[in-house]
Amino acid sequence: MTTQPRLRIAPSPTGQLHVGTARTALYNFLYARHLGGRFSMRIEDTDVSRSKREHADAFCEMLKWMGIDWDGDIIYQSDRFEMYRTAINSLLDQGLAYECYETPEELEQINVERKAQKLPPGYDGRARNLTESQKQKFKDEGRARTVRFITPDSGTSEFVDAIRGTVSVQRESVSDFVIERGDGTPTFFLANAVDDIDMEITHVVRGEDLIDSTHRVLALRRALGNSEQPFYAHTPMILAPDRSKLSKRHGAVSLESYKDSGYLPEAMVNYLALLGWSPSDGREIVTIEEMISEFDIHNVNHSG
Ligand code: GLU
Repeated sequence: MTTQPRLRIAPSPTGQLHVGTARTALYNFLYARHLGGRFSMRIEDTDVSRSKREHADAFCEMLKWMGIDWDGDIIYQSDRFEMYRTAINSLLDQGLAYECYETPEELEQINVERKAQKLPPGYDGRARNLTESQKQKFKDEGRARTVRFITPDSGTSEFVDAIRGTVSVQRESVSDFVIERGDGTPTFFLANAVDDIDMEITHVVRGEDLIDSTHRVLALRRALGNSEQPFYAHTPMILAPDRSKLSKRHGAVSLESYKDSGYLPEAMVNYLALLGWSPSDGREIVTIEEMISEFDIHNVNHSG
């Protein structure tokens, strides 16, 4: 295990760069540089139907505009499908994952039934014990195969978050989830877990909308033979004045739109950094060099 801190920004290139993601990138960059660590760029483009290379390129351009640079080459998850397939096959071979053949309509029906029983939405594990001949029958019917990861059914999943403190859930509330889609591509959880292990990521700083997914990623990491937990910091969302999640109906939400309106990069960096963090003496104009020397993720606000 490396001793040098390793951080990354891992955008999904499905649209323009949201100011929230720009701030997450900035915090990762500042903290990596503050710690004397490595900061990598990883494009999470395994969802081939929604990801676009032009969005990934624009994202990188916008970060450069902000003065954020990363170490090494850009990693595209779409170049690494072979590695994810190997991980999925090893989970299947060890009996830690299983094949499913439900159609979207059948999955929908499971949720209708669960709702009627006042259960939360989720998969009930019904394909955990399919026999080879049942699987063959589904294949012969032309059904697509998905692969689900078996989540533990009892106990508590827990991790310490630098901003939120201890975060825990009952394991039974996390149902078996898909790690390979019907088109053979890996899902976010799988690729994210495999890459954070492979890249030896030590610090995961990301938006708190991903906090629940951490329990799934941690279960996957253990199944993949890595029981070490990275340092986690889930940052509060950038909220609109009405305290709802900032979205297009509130006006400009992409960094591009601010650039196009004539905002200077230094002003954007200063503003985004101070939306959630401030230097100890409370001054409001801070250069990027000063931020690097003073930034501590533990001092990021709890509220959005
Ligand atoms: N790809 C995820 C997103 O854009 C981020 C995943 C992560 O940082 O772990 O929301």
